[in-house]
Amino acid sequence: MEKDGLLIVISGFSGAGKGTLVKALLQRYDDYALSISMTTRASREGERDGVEYFFTTKDKFEETIERDGLIEYASYCGNYYGTPRAYVEEQMAHGKNVILEIEIQGALKIKEKFPESLLIFVTPPSAAELKRRLEGRGTESAEMIARRLARAAEESEGMGAYDYIVVNDNLEACVEELHGLADAARRAPVRSQKLMREIREELQGFRKGAD
Ligand code: 5GP
Repeated sequence: MEKDGLLIVISGFSGAGKGTLVKALLQRYDDYALSISMTTRASREGERDGVEYFFTTKDKFEETIERDGLIEYASYCGNYYGTPRAYVEEQMAHGKNVILEIEIQGALKIKEKFPESLLIFVTPPSAAELKRRLEGRGTESAEMIARRLARAAEESEGMGAYDYIVVNDNLEACVEELHGLADAARRAPVRSQKLMREIREELQGFRKGAD
């Protein structure tokens, strides 16, 4: 029986631990595929082109926008970030749940374009914990940390637009919670069009045989 792939948007404050969470989810279950974004920001130490991001120039990014190669994009702390279209479409067609780890402007655009997508917001248990995690990461300057905290304050205003809010205080529990939400979402009729179509067709077939 064919299953529909789900488009899952995962957002959260910078430092909420989304990256680690998504990695753990992908390792545990093979129902998921992670979209790799394009960005104009400089790579951090240890980041590889084509793995964490496709690092690119502003000109190339704008060219990609022009040819409709991105399903969404946004500007965040002075850089562009966007989701390449081809991979998402291909993986969903194969029945995978495609995860977009993106910020809120992009998330809202996705919800508008793909109303059946699932929007999840990941947050640490408190703002103080968020600040502690950002400082502890040691990859950002004090100025960038302040900028990201200011951005988090803005983003907190948009949390209400998401379908679910997940508190990331225990990695294991959080992975299971995410998987559970995706699983439940897939069972909603609005996201099970292929399955319903197939069952209806088969039943029609039986009916013909009985007439
Ligand atoms: P970072 O610089 O910490 O890797 O990412 C900064 C923010 O950009 C994060 O909130 C991340 O989720 C978001 N982001 C990453 N890729 C994309 C994308 O393709 N589109 C949008 N809208 N946001 C993205």
